[in-house]
Amino acid sequence: MQTCPYCGLALVFDADHYYCTFCQMTIASADVQQDGGRKPITADPFVCADYVELSTPELMEKSTTFLIYLLRLVRKERKNQYNYLRLFNKVMDTGSNEYLEAAQESGKTYEWWTRKAWVIENILRDRMATFPVRVTDYYLSGLIDHIQTYNQKPMFLIRKGDRQQNASSVRPR
Ligand SMILES: [Zn+2]
Repeated sequence: MQTCPYCGLALVFDADHYYCTFCQMTIASADVQQDGGRKPITADPFVCADYVELSTPELMEKSTTFLIYLLRLVRKERKNQYNYLRLFNKVMDTGSNEYLEAAQESGKTYEWWTRKAWVIENILRDRMATFPVRVTDYYLSGLIDHIQTYNQKPMFLIRKGDRQQNASSVRPR
C-alpha cells in the first residue's frame, strides 16, 4: 500500500500523481512510502572538509544530518585557527612586528571559519529553532540511533474495533 510520508495515510492515485487527503497535498513519487513508512534519512552522510566551500544557498539545500556533521568539522578548524591567532598575538605582545602580516592573515582566516560556523548554526535554527552547542561523539551516536529507529518505525494506528490500519479516510472526532 502506498502511503503518505508525513501522516501515514493511504494515498489516492489521481490521474498521474499521488494525493494525500489528510495532508491535502500531492506527494512526489520519490517521497511515496510503503505501508506507513517514514521518509528514510541517511544516518551517516558522506561529509568532507571540501564541502565548507559551498555557498550559503548551497548549504541550505543540504540535509540536516549533513549540516550537523559539517558543523563539527568547521568548529574543529575554527578552533585550530583560533589557536594560531592566539599564538601570533602572543608574539606581537612581545613588541615584535615580524609576524604582523601573518597575524592579520590568520585573523581573516579565523573570521572566515567563524562566519561559516554561524551560517550552519543559523540554517539549523531555521529548521529546528535550535542547533547542537557541541557535536560530540555521544551526540552523533544518539542522532544516528534516533534516525535508524524511526527509519524502521512505520506509522500505524491501532484502534478498538478497527482492524483496518490506515483506513482510506480519517476525520477528526
Ligand atoms: Zn499525509
